[in-house]
Amino acid sequence: MTDQPSQLNRRTLCKLVGACATAAVVAPRAMAERFTAPTPVDTGQVEAGAVKFPAWRGPQDTPSAPPPKPLPPEQRVGFAIVGLGRLALEEILPAFGKSLKAKPVALVSGSPDKLKTVASQYGIPPEACYSYENFDQIRDNPQVKVVYIVLPNAMHREYCERAAAAGKHVLTEKPMSVSSEDAQAMVQACQRAKVKLMVAYRIQYEPYNRRARELVQDKGLGRLVAYHGVNTQTVAEDGARQWRHKHAMAGGGSLVDIGLYCLNTARFITGEEPVEVYATTYSPPGDPRFADVEETVQFTLRFPSNTVANCLTSYGARDDKYQRLNLERASLDMPNAFLYQGQRLSVIDRDGDATRNAELTLQPKNQFAQELDHMAECVLSDRTPFTPGEEGVQDHRLMEAIYESARTGQPVRLKPVEGLDSFRGPPFEPA
Ligand code: NDP
Repeated sequence: MTDQPSQLNRRTLCKLVGACATAAVVAPRAMAERFTAPTPVDTGQVEAGAVKFPAWRGPQDTPSAPPPKPLPPEQRVGFAIVGLGRLALEEILPAFGKSLKAKPVALVSGSPDKLKTVASQYGIPPEACYSYENFDQIRDNPQVKVVYIVLPNAMHREYCERAAAAGKHVLTEKPMSVSSEDAQAMVQACQRAKVKLMVAYRIQYEPYNRRARELVQDKGLGRLVAYHGVNTQTVAEDGARQWRHKHAMAGGGSLVDIGLYCLNTARFITGEEPVEVYATTYSPPGDPRFADVEETVQFTLRFPSNTVANCLTSYGARDDKYQRLNLERASLDMPNAFLYQGQRLSVIDRDGDATRNAELTLQPKNQFAQELDHMAECVLSDRTPFTPGEEGVQDHRLMEAIYESARTGQPVRLKPVEGLDSFRGPPFEPA
């Protein structure tokens, strides 16, 4: 058999091209005859700059989320990412792809090869790539509105102060710093420079944890008697070489790194501030990974409403990140509560003579994109972030009380703080 292409002589080709051209001319009329005209249910319509579709599924079905309403690229808020480590490269930079209001416009790194590679991946021009030495020149880059600090904890204060002095708003990773004194200095630096300061507490922007907070705070399930939070993971044999295992760089061990999620989320869900803490710590003797920072911390918080939070964090137990809430009329079970994704929420209660275990399925959202968009929205509308610097300072004060209790073996009483959400900004409204 002869190959098909060799049979295509000039005349055959001309016939084929002619046939295609004729089909293109008649196609629109033929389509209009063959298909019914679309209705507004099919096409949707534009309302206030957003495309909206009417519901076509019955009210019994959970509605799909409306189409997102991304800002045009030129209106988005420009972010500089400082420190190209694991979190920046694995989560934050990819999350800009899901963001509706933020865009990466500059990078800061001490590793020139990595900087060049990442800049080309994300389309950052060489003139928007900075080292730690020339970082202050970011002042002259009008594209950069927010500096996002993703450095080891002890470096947060310096880069926050330098960013504020350059007139840039600051988003800093958790923990805010390595002490309440440094964290307070960051708040003051941003106040002096009249720039915004937000701490990247991603869980406070995550839908399942937000739903748990609503279920607790609307009191429909009765009083919250107890919160249980666990955040554990393990460390490789030579983990001692990492900055997280040097007290001067990290400010502590498992507590400041991952136990902070239990502390911050217990405060977020209750909206209250603890009046007493009690804690114990443990590190395996002779293990170089825990020569300078602790392995395990167990801590209890007592809130003004008498809710008790029992929390455990460790670098010595297999990855586990859950929380469970005991209310008067229900239990809330949340495996994966603090993961980057894969949150779940079950409400367990009585249904007549049965026990019901109802798992809620919510629209998942990328927590990092939520955070970026909230910071961008605060800049665009000149609002205080929901998790401002003061929220981070409070966590540092409480972590200091936790370490003090573990050191002394005694509970530490704290000055009562009136009201709910005392250290947070106006409510966060998801885009
Ligand atoms: P990594 O160790 O992976 O990265 C830190 C980066 O900081 C390095 O790659 C390096 O980037 C830069 N760096 C500059 N100076 C130093 C130094 N002296 N020692 C070490 N690194 C240095 O850390 P992570 O990305 O895991 O953590 C960064 C921050 O993010 C921390 O504050 C951490 O607590 C927080 N975090 C938050 C999470 C969350 O879920 N919100 C999860 C994980 C971390 P370069 O080579 O570009 O200079």
